[in-house]
Amino acid sequence: MDWATIIYYVSGFLIFVVIIIALVAQSSVQSAYSKYSQMPSSLNLTGGQLAEKLCAQNNMLLQINTVGGSLSDHYNSKDKSLNISQANYNSSSVAALAVVAHEFGHALQDEQGYAPLKIRQIAVKVSNAASRFLLPFLLISIILSIFVGMAGTIMLGVVVIIYALALIANLVTLPVEINASNRAKAILNEMVTDSEEQKAVAKMLRAAAMTYVAATFVSLVYFLRFLGLFLISKRD
Ligand SMILES: [Zn+2]
Repeated sequence: MDWATIIYYVSGFLIFVVIIIALVAQSSVQSAYSKYSQMPSSLNLTGGQLAEKLCAQNNMLLQINTVGGSLSDHYNSKDKSLNISQANYNSSSVAALAVVAHEFGHALQDEQGYAPLKIRQIAVKVSNAASRFLLPFLLISIILSIFVGMAGTIMLGVVVIIYALALIANLVTLPVEINASNRAKAILNEMVTDSEEQKAVAKMLRAAAMTYVAATFVSLVYFLRFLGLFLISKRD
Protein backbone atom coordinates (compact mmCIF):
# COMPACT_ATOMS: atom_id res chain seq x y z
CA MET A 1 0.00 0.00 0.00
CA ASP A 2 1.25 3.49 -0.81
CA TRP A 3 0.79 6.70 1.18
CA ALA A 4 -2.19 7.89 -0.85
CA THR A 5 -4.14 4.71 -0.07
CA ILE A 6 -3.14 4.75 3.61
CA ILE A 7 -4.22 8.40 4.01
CA TYR A 8 -7.48 7.63 2.22
CA TYR A 9 -8.45 4.63 4.36
CA VAL A 10 -7.24 5.98 7.70
CA SER A 11 -9.11 9.27 7.19
CA GLY A 12 -12.21 7.34 6.10
CA PHE A 13 -12.20 5.55 9.45
CA LEU A 14 -11.37 8.75 11.37
CA ILE A 15 -14.40 10.57 9.94
CA PHE A 16 -16.64 8.47 12.20
CA VAL A 17 -14.39 9.07 15.21
CA VAL A 18 -14.26 12.86 14.82
CA ILE A 19 -17.99 13.14 14.13
CA ILE A 20 -18.63 11.35 17.43
CA ILE A 21 -16.13 13.65 19.19
CA ALA A 22 -17.91 16.69 17.66
CA LEU A 23 -21.34 15.42 18.77
CA VAL A 24 -20.08 14.74 22.31
CA ALA A 25 -18.48 18.22 22.48
CA GLN A 26 -21.69 19.82 21.21
CA SER A 27 -23.89 18.00 23.71
CA SER A 28 -21.54 18.70 26.62
CA VAL A 29 -21.52 22.44 25.92
CA GLN A 30 -25.32 22.33 25.73
CA SER A 31 -25.61 20.47 29.01
CA ALA A 32 -23.02 22.70 30.75
CA TYR A 33 -24.90 25.74 29.49
CA SER A 34 -28.29 24.53 30.66
CA LYS A 35 -26.86 23.43 34.03
CA TYR A 36 -25.11 26.72 34.76
CA SER A 37 -28.02 28.74 33.38
CA GLN A 38 -29.85 27.50 36.49
CA MET A 39 -27.04 28.55 38.83
CA PRO A 40 -27.44 32.18 39.95
CA SER A 41 -24.22 34.19 40.11
CA SER A 42 -23.26 35.88 43.39
CA LEU A 43 -22.52 39.06 41.39
CA ASN A 44 -26.19 39.98 41.13
CA LEU A 45 -25.69 41.42 37.66
CA THR A 46 -27.41 40.50 34.43
CA GLY A 47 -25.32 39.76 31.35
CA GLY A 48 -26.21 43.20 29.98
CA GLN A 49 -25.19 44.93 33.22
CA LEU A 50 -21.90 43.02 33.31
CA ALA A 51 -21.16 44.13 29.71
CA GLU A 52 -21.80 47.78 30.64
CA LYS A 53 -19.72 47.50 33.80
CA LEU A 54 -16.75 45.96 31.95
CA CYS A 55 -16.90 48.65 29.25
CA ALA A 56 -16.91 51.39 31.91
CA GLN A 57 -14.07 49.79 33.91
CA ASN A 58 -11.88 49.52 30.81
CA ASN A 59 -12.87 52.89 29.30
CA MET A 60 -14.17 51.20 26.19
CA LEU A 61 -17.04 52.57 24.15
CA LEU A 62 -18.71 49.47 22.78
CA GLN A 63 -22.14 49.22 21.30
CA ILE A 64 -24.08 46.65 23.32
CA ASN A 65 -26.77 44.90 21.29
CA THR A 66 -29.13 42.04 21.96
CA VAL A 67 -29.47 39.37 19.30
CA GLY A 68 -31.94 36.53 18.74
CA GLY A 69 -31.12 32.83 18.95
CA SER A 70 -29.47 30.66 21.59
CA LEU A 71 -25.71 31.03 22.19
CA SER A 72 -25.52 33.43 19.23
CA ASP A 73 -23.37 35.80 21.34
CA HIS A 74 -20.43 37.34 19.50
CA TYR A 75 -18.16 40.35 19.35
CA ASN A 76 -18.05 42.30 16.08
CA SER A 77 -14.75 44.08 15.54
CA LYS A 78 -16.04 46.00 12.50
CA ASP A 79 -18.51 48.15 14.43
CA LYS A 80 -17.03 47.46 17.91
CA SER A 81 -20.22 45.88 19.15
CA LEU A 82 -20.89 43.28 21.80
CA ASN A 83 -23.83 41.22 20.59
CA ILE A 84 -25.45 39.32 23.43
CA SER A 85 -28.27 36.84 23.03
CA GLN A 86 -31.53 37.96 24.63
CA ALA A 87 -31.44 35.17 27.24
CA ASN A 88 -27.88 35.96 28.37
CA TYR A 89 -28.53 39.71 28.33
CA ASN A 90 -31.36 39.37 30.86
CA SER A 91 -30.00 36.49 32.92
CA SER A 92 -27.81 36.74 36.01
CA SER A 93 -26.77 33.09 35.85
CA VAL A 94 -23.17 31.87 35.96
CA ALA A 95 -23.52 30.66 32.33
CA ALA A 96 -24.72 34.06 31.04
CA LEU A 97 -21.93 35.95 32.81
CA ALA A 98 -19.28 33.50 31.56
CA VAL A 99 -20.47 33.97 27.97
CA VAL A 100 -20.56 37.78 28.26
CA ALA A 101 -17.09 37.86 29.88
CA HIS A 102 -15.77 35.65 27.06
CA GLU A 103 -17.16 37.99 24.37
CA PHE A 104 -15.71 40.94 26.26
CA GLY A 105 -12.40 39.01 26.13
CA HIS A 106 -12.59 39.26 22.32
CA ALA A 107 -13.24 43.02 22.62
CA LEU A 108 -10.09 43.33 24.77
CA GLN A 109 -8.11 41.37 22.17
CA ASP A 110 -9.29 43.80 19.51
CA GLU A 111 -8.56 46.85 21.67
CA GLN A 112 -5.02 45.64 22.41
CA GLY A 113 -4.30 44.61 18.80
CA TYR A 114 -3.84 40.97 19.80
CA ALA A 115 -2.10 39.50 16.71
CA PRO A 116 -3.77 36.03 16.60
CA LEU A 117 -7.18 37.75 16.37
CA LYS A 118 -6.06 39.65 13.26
CA ILE A 119 -4.56 36.51 11.72
CA ARG A 120 -7.78 34.66 12.48
CA GLN A 121 -9.94 37.32 10.81
CA ILE A 122 -7.84 37.11 7.62
CA ALA A 123 -7.82 33.29 7.65
CA VAL A 124 -11.62 33.11 8.08
CA LYS A 125 -12.15 35.65 5.28
CA VAL A 126 -9.91 33.71 2.88
CA SER A 127 -11.47 30.38 3.85
CA ASN A 128 -15.03 31.69 3.40
CA ALA A 129 -14.21 33.21 0.02
CA ALA A 130 -12.66 29.90 -1.08
CA SER A 131 -15.74 27.95 0.07
CA ARG A 132 -18.02 30.25 -1.92
CA PHE A 133 -15.86 29.43 -4.93
CA LEU A 134 -16.31 25.68 -4.35
CA LEU A 135 -19.82 25.14 -5.75
CA PRO A 136 -19.46 26.89 -9.13
CA PHE A 137 -16.05 25.27 -9.52
CA LEU A 138 -17.48 21.81 -8.89
CA LEU A 139 -20.26 22.43 -11.45
CA ILE A 140 -17.76 23.64 -14.06
CA SER A 141 -15.55 20.62 -13.34
CA ILE A 142 -18.45 18.22 -13.86
CA ILE A 143 -19.21 19.83 -17.22
CA LEU A 144 -15.54 19.90 -18.21
CA SER A 145 -14.93 16.30 -17.21
CA ILE A 146 -17.13 15.23 -20.10
CA PHE A 147 -14.40 16.58 -22.38
CA VAL A 148 -11.22 16.57 -20.29
CA GLY A 149 -9.97 13.63 -18.20
CA MET A 150 -7.69 15.76 -16.03
CA ALA A 151 -10.62 17.80 -14.70
CA GLY A 152 -11.33 15.28 -11.91
CA THR A 153 -7.82 15.57 -10.50
CA ILE A 154 -7.78 19.36 -10.78
CA MET A 155 -11.18 19.53 -9.09
CA LEU A 156 -9.93 17.37 -6.21
CA GLY A 157 -6.84 19.57 -5.98
CA VAL A 158 -9.04 22.64 -5.52
CA VAL A 159 -11.14 20.84 -2.90
CA VAL A 160 -7.92 19.93 -1.04
CA ILE A 161 -6.87 23.61 -1.04
CA ILE A 162 -10.31 24.68 0.25
CA TYR A 163 -10.15 22.15 3.10
CA ALA A 164 -6.56 23.16 3.86
CA LEU A 165 -7.74 26.78 4.22
CA ALA A 166 -10.64 25.71 6.46
CA LEU A 167 -8.17 23.73 8.60
CA ILE A 168 -5.88 26.77 8.92
CA ALA A 169 -8.86 28.98 9.86
CA ASN A 170 -9.87 26.46 12.55
CA LEU A 171 -6.31 26.14 13.85
CA VAL A 172 -5.84 29.89 14.27
CA THR A 173 -9.28 30.15 15.91
CA LEU A 174 -8.12 27.90 18.78
CA PRO A 175 -5.59 30.24 20.46
CA VAL A 176 -7.99 33.19 19.99
CA GLU A 177 -10.86 31.35 21.72
CA ILE A 178 -8.69 29.94 24.50
CA ASN A 179 -7.21 33.38 25.15
CA ALA A 180 -10.69 34.99 25.28
CA SER A 181 -11.78 32.33 27.79
CA ASN A 182 -8.66 32.89 29.90
CA ARG A 183 -9.42 36.62 29.94
CA ALA A 184 -13.03 35.83 30.93
CA LYS A 185 -11.84 33.63 33.81
CA ALA A 186 -9.42 36.33 35.01
CA ILE A 187 -12.18 38.99 34.86
CA LEU A 188 -14.72 36.88 36.76
CA ASN A 189 -12.24 35.44 39.28
CA GLU A 190 -11.38 38.99 40.28
CA MET A 191 -15.06 39.82 40.86
CA VAL A 192 -16.35 36.50 42.24
CA THR A 193 -15.01 35.12 45.52
CA ASP A 194 -17.08 31.93 45.68
CA SER A 195 -14.84 29.04 44.63
CA GLU A 196 -17.80 26.87 43.48
CA GLU A 197 -18.84 29.63 41.13
CA GLN A 198 -15.28 30.07 39.85
CA LYS A 199 -15.15 26.32 39.11
CA ALA A 200 -18.48 26.49 37.29
CA VAL A 201 -17.21 29.34 35.09
CA ALA A 202 -14.09 27.31 34.24
CA LYS A 203 -16.17 24.21 33.39
CA MET A 204 -18.55 26.20 31.20
CA LEU A 205 -15.71 27.85 29.26
CA ARG A 206 -13.79 24.57 28.90
CA ALA A 207 -16.85 22.87 27.39
CA ALA A 208 -17.18 25.74 24.89
CA ALA A 209 -13.49 25.48 23.96
CA MET A 210 -13.85 21.75 23.27
CA THR A 211 -16.30 22.47 20.43
CA TYR A 212 -13.54 24.46 18.69
CA VAL A 213 -11.06 21.63 19.24
CA ALA A 214 -13.58 19.16 17.78
CA ALA A 215 -14.22 21.40 14.75
CA THR A 216 -10.47 21.51 14.11
CA PHE A 217 -10.26 17.70 14.17
CA VAL A 218 -13.22 17.45 11.77
CA SER A 219 -11.59 19.78 9.27
CA LEU A 220 -8.24 17.97 9.62
CA VAL A 221 -9.85 14.63 8.78
CA TYR A 222 -11.81 16.04 5.80
CA PHE A 223 -8.61 17.63 4.53
CA LEU A 224 -6.79 14.27 4.77
CA ARG A 225 -9.66 12.42 3.11
CA PHE A 226 -9.63 14.67 0.05
CA LEU A 227 -5.82 14.74 0.02
CA GLY A 228 -5.86 10.92 -0.17
CA LEU A 229 -8.43 10.99 -3.00
CA PHE A 230 -6.40 13.64 -4.85
CA LEU A 231 -3.15 11.66 -4.55
CA ILE A 232 -4.87 8.45 -5.73
CA SER A 233 -6.44 10.28 -8.67
CA LYS A 234 -3.08 11.86 -9.61
CA ARG A 235 -1.34 8.48 -9.45
CA ASP A 236 -3.93 6.52 -11.50
ZN1 LIG B 1 -15.18 33.33 21.32
